[in-house]
Amino acid sequence: MSQSYKIVTLPGDGIGPEVMRETTRVMNAATEACGLQIELQERHAGATLYRETGVALPDNVLSDCLAADAVLLSAIGLPDVRKPDGTEVQPDMMVGLRRAMGLHSAVRPVKLYPGVESCLKTGEQGIDFVILRENLEGLFASFGGGCRVGDSVATDTMVITREGTRKVCEYAFKLAARRKGRPSDGKKLVTCVDKANIFRSMAFFREVFFEVASEHSGIEAEATYVDAMSLYMVQNPSAYDVMVMENQFGDILSDLGAGIVGGLGMAPSAEIGEDHALFQPSHGTAPQIAGQNIANPLATILSGAMMFDWLGERHDDATAIAVAQKIETAVQAVLTAGELRTADIGGSATTTEITDAVLQNL
Ligand code: ATP
Repeated sequence: MSQSYKIVTLPGDGIGPEVMRETTRVMNAATEACGLQIELQERHAGATLYRETGVALPDNVLSDCLAADAVLLSAIGLPDVRKPDGTEVQPDMMVGLRRAMGLHSAVRPVKLYPGVESCLKTGEQGIDFVILRENLEGLFASFGGGCRVGDSVATDTMVITREGTRKVCEYAFKLAARRKGRPSDGKKLVTCVDKANIFRSMAFFREVFFEVASEHSGIEAEATYVDAMSLYMVQNPSAYDVMVMENQFGDILSDLGAGIVGGLGMAPSAEIGEDHALFQPSHGTAPQIAGQNIANPLATILSGAMMFDWLGERHDDATAIAVAQKIETAVQAVLTAGELRTADIGGSATTTEITDAVLQNL
Protein backbone atom coordinates (compact mmCIF):
# COMPACT_ATOMS: atom_id res chain seq x y z
CA MET A 1 0.00 0.00 0.00
CA SER A 2 1.48 3.32 -1.06
CA GLN A 3 1.78 6.03 1.56
CA SER A 4 1.83 9.83 1.42
CA TYR A 5 5.20 11.61 1.21
CA LYS A 6 6.11 15.04 2.52
CA ILE A 7 8.58 16.67 0.12
CA VAL A 8 10.30 20.00 0.82
CA THR A 9 11.11 21.96 -2.36
CA LEU A 10 13.81 24.66 -2.29
CA PRO A 11 13.55 26.76 -5.51
CA GLY A 12 16.61 28.86 -4.58
CA ASP A 13 18.20 31.44 -6.88
CA GLY A 14 18.93 32.25 -10.55
CA ILE A 15 17.33 29.66 -12.84
CA GLY A 16 16.34 27.62 -9.73
CA PRO A 17 12.75 28.93 -9.41
CA GLU A 18 12.04 28.39 -13.15
CA VAL A 19 13.26 24.81 -13.28
CA MET A 20 11.53 24.02 -9.97
CA ARG A 21 8.23 25.47 -11.26
CA GLU A 22 8.37 23.14 -14.27
CA THR A 23 9.50 20.12 -12.23
CA THR A 24 6.58 20.69 -9.85
CA ARG A 25 4.16 20.44 -12.79
CA VAL A 26 5.74 17.13 -13.81
CA MET A 27 5.75 15.73 -10.25
CA ASN A 28 2.09 16.65 -9.73
CA ALA A 29 1.00 15.12 -13.05
CA ALA A 30 3.05 11.91 -12.65
CA THR A 31 1.97 11.25 -9.06
CA GLU A 32 -1.66 11.91 -9.91
CA ALA A 33 -1.48 9.53 -12.89
CA CYS A 34 -0.01 6.74 -10.71
CA GLY A 35 -2.15 7.45 -7.64
CA LEU A 36 0.69 8.48 -5.33
CA GLN A 37 -0.04 11.00 -2.57
CA ILE A 38 2.52 13.77 -2.09
CA GLU A 39 2.53 16.99 -0.10
CA LEU A 40 4.92 19.59 -1.52
CA GLN A 41 6.17 22.19 0.96
CA GLU A 42 7.93 25.08 -0.79
CA ARG A 43 10.53 26.76 1.41
CA HIS A 44 12.96 29.61 0.81
CA ALA A 45 16.72 29.48 1.31
CA GLY A 46 19.80 30.70 -0.56
CA ALA A 47 21.47 33.87 -1.77
CA THR A 48 18.34 35.94 -2.49
CA LEU A 49 17.07 35.24 1.02
CA TYR A 50 20.52 36.06 2.44
CA ARG A 51 20.49 39.43 0.63
CA GLU A 52 17.05 40.22 2.09
CA THR A 53 17.46 38.87 5.62
CA GLY A 54 21.15 38.10 6.28
CA VAL A 55 20.33 34.38 6.70
CA ALA A 56 20.77 31.79 3.90
CA LEU A 57 19.30 28.75 5.63
CA PRO A 58 16.83 29.66 8.39
CA ASP A 59 16.55 27.19 11.30
CA ASN A 60 12.88 26.49 10.57
CA VAL A 61 13.70 25.57 6.94
CA LEU A 62 16.43 23.18 8.10
CA SER A 63 13.96 21.62 10.59
CA ASP A 64 11.41 21.17 7.79
CA CYS A 65 14.10 19.49 5.64
CA LEU A 66 14.93 17.14 8.51
CA ALA A 67 11.24 16.34 9.07
CA ALA A 68 10.47 15.70 5.38
CA ASP A 69 10.56 12.36 3.57
CA ALA A 70 12.81 13.93 0.93
CA VAL A 71 14.13 17.33 -0.18
CA LEU A 72 14.29 18.59 -3.78
CA LEU A 73 16.55 21.59 -4.33
CA SER A 74 17.03 23.31 -7.68
CA ALA A 75 20.02 25.66 -7.35
CA ILE A 76 21.34 28.17 -4.86
CA GLY A 77 23.96 30.94 -4.85
CA LEU A 78 24.56 34.19 -6.72
CA PRO A 79 28.07 35.47 -7.49
CA ASP A 80 27.23 39.06 -6.42
CA VAL A 81 25.82 38.02 -3.03
CA ARG A 82 28.73 37.60 -0.63
CA LYS A 83 29.26 37.22 3.10
CA PRO A 84 31.41 39.78 4.92
CA ASP A 85 34.50 37.55 4.41
CA GLY A 86 34.00 37.70 0.62
CA THR A 87 32.84 34.08 0.13
CA GLU A 88 29.54 33.01 -1.45
CA VAL A 89 26.68 31.58 0.61
CA GLN A 90 26.35 28.42 -1.52
CA PRO A 91 29.25 26.28 -0.19
CA ASP A 92 28.40 27.15 3.41
CA MET A 93 24.76 26.27 2.97
CA MET A 94 25.34 23.05 1.00
CA VAL A 95 28.03 21.70 3.33
CA GLY A 96 25.79 22.71 6.28
CA LEU A 97 22.80 20.81 4.81
CA ARG A 98 24.93 17.75 4.01
CA ARG A 99 26.37 17.62 7.51
CA ALA A 100 23.01 18.23 9.25
CA MET A 101 21.22 15.61 7.12
CA GLY A 102 24.13 13.12 7.21
CA LEU A 103 24.21 12.79 3.41
CA HIS A 104 27.21 10.48 3.03
CA SER A 105 26.88 9.49 -0.64
CA ALA A 106 26.33 11.69 -3.69
CA VAL A 107 24.99 9.79 -6.70
CA ARG A 108 25.69 11.32 -10.12
CA PRO A 109 24.32 9.31 -13.06
CA VAL A 110 26.24 9.86 -16.30
CA LYS A 111 23.76 8.70 -18.94
CA LEU A 112 23.62 9.62 -22.60
CA TYR A 113 19.94 9.73 -23.58
CA PRO A 114 18.96 8.81 -27.13
CA GLY A 115 18.76 11.96 -29.24
CA VAL A 116 21.31 13.86 -27.14
CA GLU A 117 24.65 14.42 -28.78
CA SER A 118 27.84 13.61 -26.90
CA CYS A 119 31.07 15.46 -27.60
CA LEU A 120 32.65 11.97 -27.80
CA LYS A 121 32.39 9.29 -30.49
CA THR A 122 30.34 6.87 -28.40
CA GLY A 123 29.33 4.24 -30.99
CA GLU A 124 26.43 1.85 -30.41
CA GLN A 125 27.11 1.11 -26.77
CA GLY A 126 26.53 4.58 -25.45
CA ILE A 127 27.28 5.88 -21.96
CA ASP A 128 25.50 4.80 -18.80
CA PHE A 129 27.49 4.79 -15.58
CA VAL A 130 27.15 6.29 -12.11
CA ILE A 131 29.68 8.31 -10.13
CA LEU A 132 29.38 7.87 -6.39
CA ARG A 133 31.08 10.62 -4.47
CA GLU A 134 31.79 10.35 -0.75
CA ASN A 135 29.98 13.46 0.41
CA LEU A 136 31.00 14.34 3.99
CA GLU A 137 34.74 13.86 4.34
CA GLY A 138 37.82 13.61 2.08
CA LEU A 139 39.24 17.03 1.29
CA PHE A 140 35.89 18.68 2.09
CA ALA A 141 36.25 17.63 5.74
CA SER A 142 38.52 20.65 5.91
CA PHE A 143 35.74 23.04 4.87
CA GLY A 144 35.44 25.77 7.47
CA GLY A 145 38.88 24.80 8.82
CA GLY A 146 42.15 24.76 6.94
CA CYS A 147 45.19 26.62 8.11
CA ARG A 148 47.14 29.59 6.82
CA VAL A 149 50.51 30.55 8.21
CA GLY A 150 51.19 34.20 7.40
CA ASP A 151 51.84 34.86 3.74
CA SER A 152 53.83 31.75 2.99
CA VAL A 153 51.93 28.52 3.74
CA ALA A 154 48.34 27.26 3.72
CA THR A 155 47.02 23.73 4.29
CA ASP A 156 43.79 21.75 4.07
CA THR A 157 43.66 18.20 5.35
CA MET A 158 42.21 15.12 3.65
CA VAL A 159 40.21 13.00 6.11
CA ILE A 160 39.26 9.40 5.25
CA THR A 161 37.50 7.28 7.87
CA ARG A 162 36.68 3.58 7.80
CA GLU A 163 33.03 4.33 8.61
CA GLY A 164 32.59 7.00 5.90
CA THR A 165 34.38 4.90 3.29
CA ARG A 166 32.40 1.77 4.13
CA LYS A 167 29.10 3.66 3.82
CA VAL A 168 29.79 5.02 0.34
CA CYS A 169 31.33 1.72 -0.86
CA GLU A 170 28.37 -0.27 0.46
CA TYR A 171 26.03 2.09 -1.36
CA ALA A 172 28.07 1.58 -4.56
CA PHE A 173 27.59 -2.21 -4.44
CA LYS A 174 23.91 -1.83 -3.57
CA LEU A 175 23.47 0.40 -6.60
CA ALA A 176 25.41 -1.97 -8.88
CA ALA A 177 23.19 -4.87 -7.79
CA ARG A 178 20.10 -2.97 -9.03
CA ARG A 179 21.64 -1.85 -12.33
CA LYS A 180 21.97 -3.84 -15.53
CA GLY A 181 25.76 -3.62 -15.73
CA ARG A 182 28.12 -1.68 -17.95
CA PRO A 183 26.96 -0.92 -21.53
CA SER A 184 29.88 -2.70 -23.24
CA ASP A 185 29.01 -6.24 -22.06
CA GLY A 186 26.49 -6.06 -19.19
CA LYS A 187 29.12 -6.93 -16.55
CA LYS A 188 28.25 -5.58 -13.09
CA LEU A 189 31.34 -3.69 -12.02
CA VAL A 190 32.30 -1.26 -9.25
CA THR A 191 35.48 0.75 -9.85
CA CYS A 192 37.30 2.42 -6.97
CA VAL A 193 38.88 5.67 -8.19
CA ASP A 194 41.74 6.87 -5.99
CA LYS A 195 45.37 7.92 -5.80
CA ALA A 196 46.53 4.96 -3.72
CA ASN A 197 50.02 4.99 -5.21
CA ILE A 198 50.80 8.34 -3.59
CA PHE A 199 48.69 9.01 -0.49
CA ARG A 200 48.27 6.85 2.61
CA SER A 201 44.71 8.13 3.00
CA MET A 202 43.92 6.88 -0.50
CA ALA A 203 45.62 3.52 0.06
CA PHE A 204 43.33 3.19 3.10
CA PHE A 205 40.27 4.14 1.00
CA ARG A 206 41.22 1.38 -1.50
CA GLU A 207 41.80 -1.16 1.29
CA VAL A 208 38.35 -0.51 2.78
CA PHE A 209 36.82 -0.64 -0.72
CA PHE A 210 38.18 -4.16 -1.34
CA GLU A 211 37.05 -5.21 2.14
CA VAL A 212 33.48 -4.18 1.24
CA ALA A 213 33.86 -5.74 -2.24
CA SER A 214 34.69 -9.12 -0.67
CA GLU A 215 31.27 -9.05 1.03
CA HIS A 216 29.46 -8.69 -2.33
CA SER A 217 29.74 -11.70 -4.62
CA GLY A 218 28.48 -11.45 -8.19
CA ILE A 219 29.75 -7.91 -8.68
CA GLU A 220 33.26 -7.42 -9.98
CA ALA A 221 35.52 -4.88 -8.24
CA GLU A 222 38.55 -3.06 -9.60
CA ALA A 223 40.60 0.06 -8.74
CA THR A 224 41.98 2.79 -10.99
CA TYR A 225 43.95 5.96 -10.33
CA VAL A 226 42.00 9.18 -10.70
CA ASP A 227 44.30 10.66 -13.36
CA ALA A 228 43.95 7.51 -15.49
CA MET A 229 40.18 7.55 -15.00
CA SER A 230 39.89 11.06 -16.42
CA LEU A 231 41.44 9.58 -19.59
CA TYR A 232 39.39 6.34 -19.66
CA MET A 233 36.10 8.22 -19.10
CA VAL A 234 36.75 10.08 -22.34
CA GLN A 235 38.28 7.20 -24.35
CA ASN A 236 36.12 4.27 -23.26
CA PRO A 237 33.11 5.38 -21.17
CA SER A 238 30.99 2.31 -22.01
CA ALA A 239 33.42 0.15 -19.96
CA TYR A 240 32.09 1.55 -16.65
CA ASP A 241 29.08 0.77 -14.47
CA VAL A 242 29.51 2.29 -10.97
CA MET A 243 32.53 4.31 -9.78
CA VAL A 244 33.17 5.24 -6.15
CA MET A 245 35.60 7.89 -4.97
CA GLU A 246 36.67 10.52 -2.44
CA ASN A 247 34.72 13.79 -2.22
CA GLN A 248 37.00 16.16 -4.20
CA PHE A 249 37.74 13.58 -6.92
CA GLY A 250 33.98 13.04 -7.28
CA ASP A 251 33.36 16.79 -7.47
CA ILE A 252 35.74 17.06 -10.43
CA LEU A 253 34.95 13.84 -12.31
CA SER A 254 31.18 14.39 -12.09
CA ASP A 255 31.48 17.66 -14.03
CA LEU A 256 33.55 15.79 -16.63
CA GLY A 257 30.80 13.16 -16.64
CA ALA A 258 28.11 15.81 -17.26
CA GLY A 259 30.28 17.21 -20.05
CA ILE A 260 30.25 13.95 -22.03
CA VAL A 261 26.46 13.45 -21.90
CA GLY A 262 25.19 16.84 -23.05
CA GLY A 263 26.24 19.17 -20.24
CA LEU A 264 25.01 20.32 -16.84
CA GLY A 265 21.40 20.75 -18.00
CA MET A 266 21.22 16.95 -18.44
CA ALA A 267 22.88 15.91 -15.16
CA PRO A 268 20.68 14.99 -12.16
CA SER A 269 21.98 14.00 -8.74
CA ALA A 270 21.00 12.52 -5.39
CA GLU A 271 22.61 12.91 -1.97
CA ILE A 272 21.81 9.97 0.27
CA GLY A 273 22.14 9.42 4.02
CA GLU A 274 20.86 6.80 6.46
CA ASP A 275 17.77 8.82 7.43
CA HIS A 276 17.51 11.64 4.87
CA ALA A 277 18.03 12.36 1.19
CA LEU A 278 18.31 15.45 -0.96
CA PHE A 279 17.98 15.62 -4.74
CA GLN A 280 19.24 18.37 -7.02
CA PRO A 281 20.50 19.00 -10.56
CA SER A 282 24.30 19.11 -10.87
CA HIS A 283 24.16 22.60 -12.34
CA GLY A 284 24.33 25.89 -10.45
CA THR A 285 22.12 28.95 -10.73
CA ALA A 286 23.37 30.09 -14.21
CA PRO A 287 22.45 33.74 -13.41
CA GLN A 288 23.20 34.97 -16.95
CA ILE A 289 20.23 33.02 -18.36
CA ALA A 290 17.90 33.40 -15.35
CA GLY A 291 14.41 34.80 -15.87
CA GLN A 292 14.38 34.14 -19.62
CA ASN A 293 12.55 30.79 -19.62
CA ILE A 294 15.38 29.18 -21.63
CA ALA A 295 17.07 27.00 -18.98
CA ASN A 296 16.99 23.23 -19.43
CA PRO A 297 14.64 21.82 -16.73
CA LEU A 298 15.50 18.16 -17.46
CA ALA A 299 18.31 17.81 -14.87
CA THR A 300 15.86 18.88 -12.14
CA ILE A 301 12.99 16.79 -13.55
CA LEU A 302 15.31 13.74 -13.64
CA SER A 303 16.46 14.51 -10.07
CA GLY A 304 12.74 14.37 -9.14
CA ALA A 305 12.59 10.92 -10.80
CA MET A 306 15.60 9.80 -8.70
CA MET A 307 13.77 11.04 -5.60
CA PHE A 308 10.68 8.89 -6.29
CA ASP A 309 12.92 5.90 -7.04
CA TRP A 310 14.71 6.36 -3.70
CA LEU A 311 11.39 6.78 -1.82
CA GLY A 312 10.10 3.62 -3.50
CA GLU A 313 13.19 1.59 -2.57
CA ARG A 314 13.26 2.90 0.98
CA HIS A 315 9.56 2.31 1.68
CA ASP A 316 9.19 -0.76 -0.53
CA ASP A 317 6.60 1.21 -2.49
CA ALA A 318 6.05 0.05 -6.07
CA THR A 319 3.84 3.08 -6.83
CA ALA A 320 6.66 5.53 -6.07
CA ILE A 321 9.02 3.47 -8.28
CA ALA A 322 6.38 3.56 -11.04
CA VAL A 323 6.27 7.39 -10.77
CA ALA A 324 10.07 7.52 -11.19
CA GLN A 325 9.94 5.26 -14.24
CA LYS A 326 7.05 7.22 -15.75
CA ILE A 327 8.96 10.51 -15.48
CA GLU A 328 12.20 9.09 -16.91
CA THR A 329 10.38 7.35 -19.77
CA ALA A 330 8.57 10.59 -20.67
CA VAL A 331 11.86 12.55 -20.69
CA GLN A 332 13.44 9.84 -22.83
CA ALA A 333 10.52 9.95 -25.29
CA VAL A 334 10.85 13.72 -25.74
CA LEU A 335 14.60 13.45 -26.36
CA THR A 336 14.25 10.48 -28.70
CA ALA A 337 11.62 12.31 -30.78
CA GLY A 338 14.31 14.94 -31.26
CA GLU A 339 11.91 17.76 -32.13
CA LEU A 340 12.27 19.83 -29.01
CA ARG A 341 15.36 20.64 -27.00
CA THR A 342 16.65 23.64 -25.09
CA ALA A 343 19.56 25.77 -26.33
CA ASP A 344 22.21 24.08 -24.14
CA ILE A 345 21.68 20.80 -26.05
CA GLY A 346 21.38 22.35 -29.48
CA GLY A 347 17.74 23.46 -29.80
CA SER A 348 15.62 26.56 -29.31
CA ALA A 349 12.72 25.33 -27.14
CA THR A 350 11.80 27.22 -23.98
CA THR A 351 11.82 25.77 -20.48
CA THR A 352 8.02 25.64 -20.57
CA GLU A 353 7.80 24.07 -24.04
CA ILE A 354 10.12 21.20 -23.15
CA THR A 355 8.13 20.57 -19.95
CA ASP A 356 4.84 20.64 -21.88
CA ALA A 357 6.29 17.92 -24.13
CA VAL A 358 7.30 15.83 -21.08
CA LEU A 359 3.76 16.24 -19.67
CA GLN A 360 2.22 15.08 -22.97
CA ASN A 361 4.38 11.94 -22.82
CA LEU A 362 3.57 11.04 -19.22
P1 ATP B 1 28.06 26.70 -9.37
O1 ATP B 1 29.38 27.28 -8.99
O2 ATP B 1 26.92 27.19 -8.56
O3 ATP B 1 28.07 25.21 -9.55
P2 ATP B 1 28.68 27.49 -12.05
O4 ATP B 1 28.84 28.94 -12.27
O5 ATP B 1 29.88 26.62 -11.99
O6 ATP B 1 27.74 27.27 -10.80
P3 ATP B 1 26.35 26.86 -13.51
O7 ATP B 1 25.59 27.93 -12.88
O8 ATP B 1 25.91 25.49 -13.27
O9 ATP B 1 27.88 26.90 -13.19
O10 ATP B 1 26.35 27.10 -15.06
C1 ATP B 1 27.46 27.15 -15.91
C2 ATP B 1 26.92 27.39 -17.31
O11 ATP B 1 26.26 26.21 -17.78
C3 ATP B 1 25.84 28.46 -17.29
O12 ATP B 1 26.39 29.70 -17.52
C4 ATP B 1 24.93 28.04 -18.38
O13 ATP B 1 25.39 28.55 -19.61
C5 ATP B 1 25.04 26.53 -18.42
N1 ATP B 1 23.93 25.87 -17.69
C6 ATP B 1 23.95 25.39 -16.45
N2 ATP B 1 22.76 24.84 -16.15
C7 ATP B 1 21.98 25.02 -17.22
C8 ATP B 1 20.63 24.69 -17.52
N3 ATP B 1 19.83 24.03 -16.65
N4 ATP B 1 20.14 25.03 -18.73
C9 ATP B 1 20.91 25.64 -19.63
N5 ATP B 1 22.19 25.99 -19.43
C10 ATP B 1 22.73 25.67 -18.22
